[in-house]
Amino acid sequence: MTTFEETPIKFLKGVGETRAGLLGSELDIAVFKDLLDYYPFRYVDRSRFYQISELSGEMPMLQILGHFVDFHVEGEGKSQRLRGIFTDGHRMMEVVWFAGIKRIAQMYKPMTQYVIFGKPGIYNNGWQMVHPEVEEYNPQRPPTGLQGIYSLTDTLRRRGVTQRVVQTAVRNLLANPKFNTIAETLPDSLIRRYGFPGIRETYRAIHFPEDPQLLRKARERMKFEELFYLELQILRYARRRNQQLQGHVFSTIGENFNRYYSECIPFELTGAQKRVLKEIRADMRTGRQMNRLLQGDVGSGKTMVAFMSMLMSADNGFQSCLMAPTEILAGQHYETVKGWADRIGLRTALLTGSTRAKARREIHEGLLSGEIDIIIGTHALLEESVEFRNLGLAVIDEQHRFGVAQRARMWGKGKIPPHVLVMTATPIPRTLAMTVYGDLEVSVIDELPPGRKPIETWLRSDANRGEVDRHIWRQIQEGRQIYIVYPLIQENEKLALKSLEQGLERVRDTFRGVGVSFVHGKMKPAEKDYQMQRFVDGETRIMVATTVIEVGVNVPNATVMVIENAERFGLSQLHQLRGRVGRGADRSWCILMSKEQLAAPTRKRLRIMTETTDGFLVSEADLKLRGPGDMEGTQQSGIAFNLKMANLATDGQIVQLARTAAEDVLSGNPVITASQEDAPRRETALALTEGELRILAGELHRRFDHQVDWSLIS
Ligand code: ADP
Ligand code: MG
Repeated sequence: MTTFEETPIKFLKGVGETRAGLLGSELDIAVFKDLLDYYPFRYVDRSRFYQISELSGEMPMLQILGHFVDFHVEGEGKSQRLRGIFTDGHRMMEVVWFAGIKRIAQMYKPMTQYVIFGKPGIYNNGWQMVHPEVEEYNPQRPPTGLQGIYSLTDTLRRRGVTQRVVQTAVRNLLANPKFNTIAETLPDSLIRRYGFPGIRETYRAIHFPEDPQLLRKARERMKFEELFYLELQILRYARRRNQQLQGHVFSTIGENFNRYYSECIPFELTGAQKRVLKEIRADMRTGRQMNRLLQGDVGSGKTMVAFMSMLMSADNGFQSCLMAPTEILAGQHYETVKGWADRIGLRTALLTGSTRAKARREIHEGLLSGEIDIIIGTHALLEESVEFRNLGLAVIDEQHRFGVAQRARMWGKGKIPPHVLVMTATPIPRTLAMTVYGDLEVSVIDELPPGRKPIETWLRSDANRGEVDRHIWRQIQEGRQIYIVYPLIQENEKLALKSLEQGLERVRDTFRGVGVSFVHGKMKPAEKDYQMQRFVDGETRIMVATTVIEVGVNVPNATVMVIENAERFGLSQLHQLRGRVGRGADRSWCILMSKEQLAAPTRKRLRIMTETTDGFLVSEADLKLRGPGDMEGTQQSGIAFNLKMANLATDGQIVQLARTAAEDVLSGNPVITASQEDAPRRETALALTEGELRILAGELHRRFDHQVDWSLIS
C-alpha cells in the first residue's frame, strides 16, 4: 500500500493530470512528499500594504492595494504586451503582462479593489510591476501573516501554475486528514534533545508560518535534519574505513630528516610549515592510516612539507610517491625534489605517460626492489604494473583533479595502505572542509614565506587596452614573460575557440617578433606539452591559453597574468590563475579584462580580487556568492550535497551541532558502523531505540540512495 507521502501528486486536490505532469517535468515533484519538501525560497509580509510613494531603491516582493484605471495593448506579434495603470488612490504605477493578454484584459474590472503582488522595478522613470499576482480584495478576509513564495519556472507560470496554484495545492495537502499519518524523519531523542518541533508542525510552519518565531524554529529543524544526515553519512564511511585501514607506524625521526633539516635545507621553515609537519608526524605514529588534507595558498611552500614528510617515511625504511595532475607539473616537482633529495643521497625517479619503455621497465624494477626511495609522476603511477616494495607515503598534489576513487586505488598498492597526504591550493573555509572532506583531517599553511611581493591586481576593460598592451611591452622588454588566458565557454565550444583564435591573432599582431605559445583543451597532449615546455624554457615569451593552462605550473620569470572576459570566471579560479605569477622576486601583475558595463554583483565579485590576495578571503567570498555546490574542489569529493535549506557558508553553527549529534549517535549505536572494536565512548553518546534506528536507516536510504543493512535491526 502506498503511504500518504508516496501518493502520486496527480491525486492531490487542485492538481490533476496536466499540472502533475508540469510539476514533474519542471520541478521534479512526483509524489506528496516531494511537494512537502518543496520549500518556499522566501516569505513576504502579507499583512502590510505598501503605498506607491514608499517605493525606492531595490524593493522586495510586496503588495499594494488599489484599482486599475486603464488597460491598453501595445506592440505586435511576439513583442505584444498589455499595460495596465494601477493606482493606490494617490499615485499611479504601471503593470505589464507579456502573456495571457486577452484573458487578463477581460478579467479585471475597473473600480474594483485588487491586491497586486510582485516585485516592483523602475522602468521609464516610473514604478512598474511585471506579471504580478492579482487578487480581488476581500475586506472580510484580508491577506495576513507571512506568505511563502515558491520558486517557479517560466513554463509553469505560462501554463497557469502560479504561486497561488502551488500555495493552494500545499494547503490542500496539509489539510488532508492523512497528513497526520506522515512519519517522523528524526529520532525522537534528537527532537527532544534540541527542542525541535515535530515533523508535521515543521511542515506547517514552513509552508504557512503563523509567525516568524515558529518559522525560524521550523527552518532550524530542517537545516539540522539535512546536515545531520549528511554528517552521519560522511562519518559512517570515515569510521568504517578507519576501522578497516591499519596504517604503518613511523616511530622514528632519523638520519635523513635530521641531517636534511640541520645541514641542507635551503631556507628557514615558516611557523606554519613547522606546525603542519608536527601534525603529520603525530598522524604517522598512531598505527592508523593518515588521511590528511594540506591546504595552503599558492606559493605557501607545500612542496617542502611534502618532501620532509617523505624523509620521515624514508627514515622508517619506506618508499614515497608524489602524484601530480599533469606531466609538466610532475616534471617540475621532480626537478625540485631531486635537487633536495640528491643532497642526502636519496634516490628519485620520474614516471609519466611519456616515459620510454626501457626507462619504465627500470623504474618498475627499482620500485619493486626498493632501489628507488621517492617516485614522482602522474596518473601513470596508478597503473597495475607499478608495484612498490613498501610504499609508506603517497602525496597527491592538487586535490581537485583526483577523485576519491583514485585515492582508493593508491591505497590498494600494499597490504597496509600508505599514509596519504593530499595537497590543495584551493583553500576551503573550515565549516565546509569539515563536511566536504569529512574523511580527511585538515592542516592549513596560513603563512607565506617571507619576502614575497604581493601581486597587484587591476580591473580593466577594452577601453584601457592600450595601457595594458604598453604594460605588457615594458615587461617583455625587461625580459619577463606573460600569460594571457581566455575562458572556456562550455555551452559553445566553437565560439570559445573562435574568440581564442581571434585573441591569438591580435596578440601576434600587437607584439610582433615576440615568441608566442598557444594552448587549448582540444589540442593533442603532445602538442600541448610542446607548447608549454617552450614557454617554461623561455623560448616563447607570451602564453595564450584557455584555462587548461596547468595548475601549479611554475615559471618564476612570468610577471603578468592577463585574464580576458574575467567576468566569466569564478573567484577561486581567478585566484588560482593569479597564483601563476608572483613566483619570483619581481613585481607582478594580474590584469582582469572585462566588459565595459558590468552588472553590480559581477563588479563586486571582481573588486574582491583587486582588494585581497589572501586565498582564504577569496574563497570565503566565493562560497558566500556562489554556494558550495559550485566550488572548485567540492565537485569530485564524491558527496552529493543536495542541501535544500541549510547553507554551509552561513549555517556554520548548525553544521557544528549536526556534526556533534552525528558523532553522539554513532558512539551510542555501534550497529551503525558495524564496529567490532570499542571506540572510546563519548559521554554524550546517544543510544537509540530500534524504532529510531529504523528512521535513520530509512532516511539514509532515501537521501543517499544506498541500501542500509544493519542486520541487527529487525
Ligand atoms: P605551493 O604551496 O604553491 O606548492 P611551493 O612549494 O611551490 O608552493 O613553494 C613556492 C616557493 O617558495 C618555492 O620556490 C619554494 O622553494 C619556496 N619556499 C617554500 N618554503 C619556503 C620558506 N620557508 N622560505 C622561503 N622560501 C620557501
Ligand atoms: Mg605546488
